[in-house]
Amino acid sequence: MHRSELTIDLGAVRRNVKRLTGVLDGADLWAVVKADGYGHGAVDVAGAALGAGARALCVVTLAEGLEMRAEYPTARILVMGPLIPGEVARAREAGLEIAVADADIPEGVRVHIKLDTGMGRFGLTELLSAPPRNVVGLMSHLATTADDLDFARKQVERFRELTAPHADLTRHIAASAAVLRLPEAFFDAVRCGIAIYGLSPFGEDPAGDGLEPVLRWESRLTQVKLLQPGESTGYGRRFIASEPTWIGLVPVGYADGFRRDMTGTEVLVAGERRPVVGTISMDSFAVTLERELLVGTPVVIVGDGVLVEEHARVADTINYEITCGVCSDRRRARRVIVDG
Ligand SMILES: *Cc1c(COP(=O)(O)O)cnc(C)c1O
Repeated sequence: MHRSELTIDLGAVRRNVKRLTGVLDGADLWAVVKADGYGHGAVDVAGAALGAGARALCVVTLAEGLEMRAEYPTARILVMGPLIPGEVARAREAGLEIAVADADIPEGVRVHIKLDTGMGRFGLTELLSAPPRNVVGLMSHLATTADDLDFARKQVERFRELTAPHADLTRHIAASAAVLRLPEAFFDAVRCGIAIYGLSPFGEDPAGDGLEPVLRWESRLTQVKLLQPGESTGYGRRFIASEPTWIGLVPVGYADGFRRDMTGTEVLVAGERRPVVGTISMDSFAVTLERELLVGTPVVIVGDGVLVEEHARVADTINYEITCGVCSDRRRARRVIVDG
C-alpha cells in the first residue's frame, strides 16, 4: 500500500487537446510538456497529446528535448531554452528545434527567433532584416492575459508588426490563456501547457472553459484519534482542540508536494469535505473529522470536485506551481496511468 496514488487520465488529455484545437481556426496546437509535463509525466502526456492532434512538443531544457526525442523519433520538438553554447550541437544532432533570443543565430539547426514584445524577459526587441534560412519560426510570449487583456493585445499587435515581413515563417505567441480568451493571438501555432492538463490558466474552475483535470491524487487515513480539549496536533501546536475532536492523519506532506501553506484547504474524506488543520509536516497532514472513521478511509486530495485551483488559492500561488511540486517519486507515491 502506497502512501499516496497519482492517477493520470490520458483520455482527459486527449479531450482537452480536442477541445482546444476546436477553437483554433486552423492554427496548430503545440503541447508544452516542460517540467515533466507540469508534474503529470511528460512522456505519457506527450504521447496522448500527439495522438489527439498536437503537431509539436515544446520543452525548456535540452535534457527534456532529448527525452522526448528518444520516445518520439519523428515528432517535431521545440526546445524553448535558452541553451548554453555547448548544447546547440547536441540539439542539432537530435533533430530538435531551438529558440534563440539574441542576434547570434547558430547554423545547421532549425531556429525560432524569440522576440520580446513586452514580457521583459528573453528575446530580441527588433527583428533582423533578413533572418538566415535555418530560421523557421518567430515567437514571443505574453506577460498578461485575463488580468490585462489590453496589454496582451498591445503585445500581439507589436508581434504582428515586427513579424509581418516574414509571414512565411511559423509565427506563434499564444499560450493557454490566449487560446481561451484572445483569438487574435492565434497566428500559425499556439503553445498550450496548463490547459491540456485540464487546469485553468485563470485559477478558476476549469470546467468553465470545458477542460477536464488530468490529475487525481488520493491517499487514506493512517491514524484516527480523539483529541481532548487543550490537546493539539502537529508541530508548533497550531491546532488546539477546544472540544473533543476526532482527527485523521494522512501520510502525505510537503515532501510529496502538499505544501506547508496549504493548511486550511479542504480534501474529501469518505466523500465529505474536511479541513486540513495544524502544521503540515514533511510526511503527513491532519484533518478534523465529524466522527470516528476507520483507518484506511479514502482521502481525495485532488479529484471528485476538489480542484488544484482551490489548493493554490489557499497557498496564495497558482495551480502551475502546485502540480509541478507534486512528487511522483516511486519510493513515496504510486503513479497510475489510465485511459478513461
Ligand atoms: C510554459 C510556456 C508556455 C505554456 O504556457 P501555459 O500557460 O501553460 O499554456 C508557452 N510558451 C512559453 C514560452 C512557455 O515558457
